[in-house]
Amino acid sequence: RAKSAGSNQYRFYASDMNIRGHELLKMEADLRYALEHEQFILHYQPQVDLSNGRIVGVEGLIRWQHPVRGLVSPADFIPLLENSSLIIPVGEWVLREACRLHRTWRESGFDGVRLSVNVSAVQFNDGELLDKVRRALQEEEMPQQALELEITENILMQDPVKATEILQSIHALGVRVAIDDFGTGYSSLAYLKRFPLDALKIDQAFVRDIINSASDAVIVEASISLAHKLGLEVVGEGVETVEQFEFLRLQKCNLAQGYHLGRPIPELQLSQWLAKKRQQHRTSS
Ligand code: C2E
Ligand code: MG
Ligand code: MG
Ligand code: MG
Repeated sequence: RAKSAGSNQYRFYASDMNIRGHELLKMEADLRYALEHEQFILHYQPQVDLSNGRIVGVEGLIRWQHPVRGLVSPADFIPLLENSSLIIPVGEWVLREACRLHRTWRESGFDGVRLSVNVSAVQFNDGELLDKVRRALQEEEMPQQALELEITENILMQDPVKATEILQSIHALGVRVAIDDFGTGYSSLAYLKRFPLDALKIDQAFVRDIINSASDAVIVEASISLAHKLGLEVVGEGVETVEQFEFLRLQKCNLAQGYHLGRPIPELQLSQWLAKKRQQHRTSS
């Protein structure tokens, strides 16, 4: 009896798994189709210099233009891409797409705007990341220091020794590296000092309440000062209000990113915006 109960349980479990398995397979097939049929797009969000208001960079953020579901946000499909290893070709596409856009900017006379892309754990640990970055830079004739890779601290802490090697080789290429979502993961200060990094992005969870929460304000202040002591540039993420912007500016945070400065927007809109900004700077100087 115990045996049959056991096997019933197993059957129930298995059929449950089957349903989920089918859904996952369907989603994966849809994502593969999306890649092949160019349903992914990047939106771009500006990063602004807090000392002079200028746009110094933009972050590329992926979206899925689903024929039925509309614009799907990355939180809903990045985990699936990671589980299926599809993140490797999609990540390569993101890199290419960002470098291609940067080329169009250079061709129309914009210099000095950096492009950041997010790199997931699977990509970071893929032995071919470096080759892919090198190739994208070469083929789009991208200045190395105009490209920045955003990596979360958890990815680096999984295997800090190996991560250090990978970071060193990225650095040797001349490409920038930023720690994304700083403060939400685990990082060791000893490693932060040893990793070759360029920037630290303070997670929006801390920026959100800097005005009303004394402890979040202290965390943000300490992160800024830590970053500066390590020679890193600091970016405040998720800046939604002028008060948050002013707080970060007074604390000598270098850059700000958030809805207050601009939401992620499609390429065409961004290029038009940059052209307008350039015009304003010309007429005012
Ligand atoms: P992230 O890299 O930390 O990107 C910042 C996220 O915060 C973006 O969400 C952005 O739209 C959102 N955000 C920006 N300013 C504000 C603000 O003022 N308030 C609030 N509430 N949110 C703000 P998004 O575009 O949905 O992306 C979510 C995450 O998905 C990203 O977090 C990143 O981890 C991942 N992701 C996005 N694109 C890619 C990609 O191309 N490759 C990989 N591997 N991951 C990506
Ligand atoms: Mg990011
Ligand atoms: Mg972030
Ligand atoms: Mg994030």
